Order: sequence, then C-alpha cells, then structure tokens
Amino acid sequence: MLVREAKLKGLPKQYQALDEAIRTGQFIRNKCLRLWMDTRDCTRAKMQALCKSLAIEFPFAKQLNSMARQAHADRAWQAVKRFYQNCREGIKPVGYPKFKKHSRSVEYKTSGWKLSHDGYALTFTDGFKAGTFSLYCNGEAREDILRSKINRVRVVRRADGYYAQFCLALERKEPGTYTGNVVGIDLGLKFFIKDQNDNAVVYPQYLRREELRLKRLQRRLSRQHQKGKKQSSNYHKTRRQLGKQHLTVHRQRKDWAIKQARALVSSNDVVAYEDLKVRNLVKNHHLAKSISDAAWSQFTDFLDYYGRVWDKAVVAVNPAFTSQDCHNCGHRAKKSLSTRTHKCPSCGIELCRDTNAASNILKRGMEILGMEWTNSTQGHWETGGKPQTTEETPTSADEGKPEPVSGVDESVTA
Ligand SMILES: [Zn+2]
Repeated sequence: MLVREAKLKGLPKQYQALDEAIRTGQFIRNKCLRLWMDTRDCTRAKMQALCKSLAIEFPFAKQLNSMARQAHADRAWQAVKRFYQNCREGIKPVGYPKFKKHSRSVEYKTSGWKLSHDGYALTFTDGFKAGTFSLYCNGEAREDILRSKINRVRVVRRADGYYAQFCLALERKEPGTYTGNVVGIDLGLKFFIKDQNDNAVVYPQYLRREELRLKRLQRRLSRQHQKGKKQSSNYHKTRRQLGKQHLTVHRQRKDWAIKQARALVSSNDVVAYEDLKVRNLVKNHHLAKSISDAAWSQFTDFLDYYGRVWDKAVVAVNPAFTSQDCHNCGHRAKKSLSTRTHKCPSCGIELCRDTNAASNILKRGMEILGMEWTNSTQGHWETGGKPQTTEETPTSADEGKPEPVSGVDESVTA
C-alpha cells in the first residue's frame, strides 16, 4: 500500500460539509465503541449491523456514504482489537479504547467520491454534498493516483487546510545500489546517531529553533486563556498560530528524518540499530524532551521503510548492555549515563562510548543475519554469506564514506 496526498481546494461552504462528514464519522465510531462497552461478545459484524440501524435512526448518519459508515465501524473495531492484543502481549499501556472528541479525518472506501479523468478534481457524491474540489499535488503523486487502483480516500483536516489521502494498491520497489558496507548505529542524545566508525549526525539547530517557537506560543496561549469565560479573539489567533507551528515542526522534522534514513540505507547494505522502546523511554521525565524531540522512532521507521524499498537488511537489535560491553573483548563494564568514554579494564581499549555501542549493535545485527563481522576493517563482510551481489564501483566507494558528518546536512539526499 502506498499513500499519496493532495491538498483540497474549495469554497468555505464545501469545507463545512467536510467538517460535518468528519463529525458524522466520529459519531459512528463512538456509537460502535459504546456498543462494545455495553454488550458482551460484541463482534465486528455487530458493529457493521449497528451502522445500518444508525442510518435509519439518524438522518445525518444516512448522509454519509454507506461504505464510509462501515469504514468508521472498522475504526472502532481496530481500537478494540489493538486493546485485546496489547492485553495478550502484556504491552503497557494497554490503550483502553476511548471516545473521540476531536476527530480530524473521515474515510471513504471505493464509493462516495469520484476522481476526474485528468486527476485534477475530486468530487464527493454522498449526502453531505461537499461537491468538487481542486486537487493540488506534485506530478509524480498525480501519476500514481491515476495509474493505480484506489482502495481508500481519506479526508484529513490540518491546521492549514484539508487534504485528501489516497491509499493505493501499489508497492514501492526500487533497485538498490549495493555498496558492500555495513553499519551499526547508536541513537543518543549528544549525537542523534553515531556509527561504528565514529561518524556522527547531530540534530540540527534549525529544528531546535522551531521547537523553541512552539514552546513560546504555548506559553502565550496559556497566558491568554480565561478560565470559565469565552475566549478572546487574540486567544484564538494564538491557537491557530500554534497549530500551524506544530505542523511546521512536524513537517521539517519528518523531512530531515527521511533524508538521514535515506542516506544511511542507500550507502549501506546492512543497517543495525537498537530497538529502543521509545514509548517506554519517554516515561522517564528527564530524558523525555530530548527523546521525543529527536524523533528516533520516526527515523527508525524510515530506516525500515527504505530497507523494504531497496531490498536491504535493516535489523533492530536488543539494546541491552550495548553501551556496557566492550566491543573488542566482550568485557562488561558498568558505567553511568554521564560517562562519555569507554575504557576497558580488561583489554585497555579506549574510545567514545557511543562508538563502542555502535560496534556492539552492528555485531548483534550481523549475528541475527547469520554473518560474521570483524571490526578490523571499515565494516566489510568477511564471510561468503552475502545476500546480494556487492560490486565495488567508484561511486559506491564515495557513497560508502561517512555520510552526514555533522550539523545541518542537506546535501546528502542521495
Ligand atoms: Zn575490552
């Protein structure tokens, strides 16, 4: 599945119709959830049946396309299913399904909308009569939307407008260039990532700056907030600014994470990273800000993604003791978070703590893949168990070098 997005341009009245569709979708999801809470042995089929009776009972529910109604019953079912699964697997928090108050999206399946033949307009044909919107996106996305089967259309409301997401029956596969390099990366606070050869990537200043602006706006908003009264127009102005700033930060951070992940996977055949449960780490209050900021999970998600696209091995390894063990002799030396260097009492090796961890991570990653890695080289395979052909070309040698060395690095787009 591939998701392509386009901005919807229409009249204010049309946006209002979309808002109503979103609210109705939320209503149906919440009703289905209520059904699950109130009755024993509620099934997906029962939720689907409820959709039908809701459409008879409430005229506004009937306005939403029937398959869209089902899609929203499915959303409730997904929440229930995830809850059961988390309970079974002992994942905390279990995520007890909640009622939605501020839904931002409505989902259509294969009916209730119509795409123009040139892909420049989208018409909603259900009871809300939202009408025809112009579609704004780049040519590549439009081509994808036109050439493939569309499974779902999702309308998303954001701080700067309305967007249509098209879920396409496509899989992105591209031939990757194999370089013969392997890399293990340590995710840290001082450096965003550091690999076994001591190459570091730092979280860029411009992102920090935008985050600071976020903080400032949040402060202003809480100052302007009047308890128990109608909020001032200035309050709402700040509220809108804050929403837009969140969007800016989100987009810039994602863009940066994609570039880093792309550069790393394109210049290596094997990428090993530590499987940090970010959800657990964020609970630790001191680290919270930096960890969620640094957008690790987003970064590692894109590592996985590019691994799939280019058919490369991206492995997550168990992070236990990676920074304590000596990568050279395996001696385990306890150290606190503030100790920045790794000094081995057993073999006497001395190096940066993160670099040592990266070596350990790479070693574990290679073990998972059933390959051996000796740290004497720049990280080349020693055994014959290469999964892909690795031809050394002059260009790949360049690419294989430490990519993002430090700071703002926009040049490495690969
Ligand atoms: Zn040692």
